[in-house]
Amino acid sequence: MGGCSLVAGLVFIGMDLLGHYWVLRRPDLAIPISLFKGVGFVCITILLLYWVLRPWKKDLQASQLRDSHQRQQLRELDQFRELVIDNAMVWINVLDPQWRITLWNKAAEQISGYRRDEVLDNPAIWEWLYPDPDYRASIGAKVTEILEHDTMVEGFETRIRCKQGEEKIIAWNSRRFFGEDGTLMGSIAIGQDITARKLAEMELERLATHDSLTGLYNRHELMRRMQDDVARAERFQHPLCLLLIDIDHFKQINDRFGHQAGDRVLNRFGALLKEATRHVDYAGRYGGEELVIVLPETDLQEGFEIAERLRNRIESERWSQAGSDIGTITISIGVVAYPDLDGGVDELFLAADLALYRAKNGGRNQVCIAA
Ligand code: GH3
Ligand code: MG
Ligand code: MG
Repeated sequence: MGGCSLVAGLVFIGMDLLGHYWVLRRPDLAIPISLFKGVGFVCITILLLYWVLRPWKKDLQASQLRDSHQRQQLRELDQFRELVIDNAMVWINVLDPQWRITLWNKAAEQISGYRRDEVLDNPAIWEWLYPDPDYRASIGAKVTEILEHDTMVEGFETRIRCKQGEEKIIAWNSRRFFGEDGTLMGSIAIGQDITARKLAEMELERLATHDSLTGLYNRHELMRRMQDDVARAERFQHPLCLLLIDIDHFKQINDRFGHQAGDRVLNRFGALLKEATRHVDYAGRYGGEELVIVLPETDLQEGFEIAERLRNRIESERWSQAGSDIGTITISIGVVAYPDLDGGVDELFLAADLALYRAKNGGRNQVCIAA
């Protein structure tokens, strides 16, 4: 820059001397020469200024370019974040500290059926998703834990009601988060729709524990439950009753109407047994056409009465299969109860079997109590 100023100064001096020289030689040209000098002075000053300010201008332009580039990058990053959140395969929502929803991505819309504009800043969403007040309160307690006590939630499962009325099971990961200045921004929740997986698990569990023909517990599950219940009855000295049921002359049904008709009878029989049991009771298939009902908290007398009612119910049913009239079917039942018989599962079964044997020998279609 110093070099430029020197050159400009020399040019000025040179022009001045030249102008002076010409004015001496040609005084008649004094005015145009002065004009020329003035114009030259202005042009050189402009050139000089341009030359001097050029690096600053370049710097300014570069920094403006950098700023706008940075702004563009930030805008693109924001758009990218929104794009990622919106296209995530999982439900993402953000809740502010006042429990208002401030972010609701596309997956949340797809899973719940509720559009973003319906739920943003709308407290009604809690009632929509969790219509049962008690259940909603328990979910609310969890949200309070996250927002106020910094609890981090992983795999927390909730049952939601979707807009179309269907229920879905969602597994949540959630935690609160803070802004750059340290203020609480709210909580972020990431939910995964695990309904299909849960249904498959439930179906697998059902297949593993239930008998496909009667729909009752299979022998393995029946024994597992009985072990637990008999142990509980012993520990708390509560009564427990066991009914061992065998269909009378079932072989004849197979022989007369075919094995498939026999299967259908067993299927209907299972449904009747389920109908006849209270929700604390359970029924299972012990083997062939021998079925069991376990009645926790039930003494021998009550158990006997329940068995009698069941025997009557089966006897009064008119059985028909595929258009052919099967007529009536009867059952024999052996009844045993803890603590009248003070023993474990095997002893109870043995005693019930003996009582059943007596019922068969006594002419069938009857209930016998274990001696
Ligand atoms: P009772 O009990 O009165 O002495 O005579 P019953 O003819 O019922 O004799 P039992 O209980 O010994 O015979 C059971 C019959 O049940 C034998 C078998 O053919 C039939 N059975 C066992 N399991 C099944 C099944 O899954 N399907 C069908 N259709 N029949 C079965
Ligand atoms: Mg039988
Ligand atoms: Mg039998």
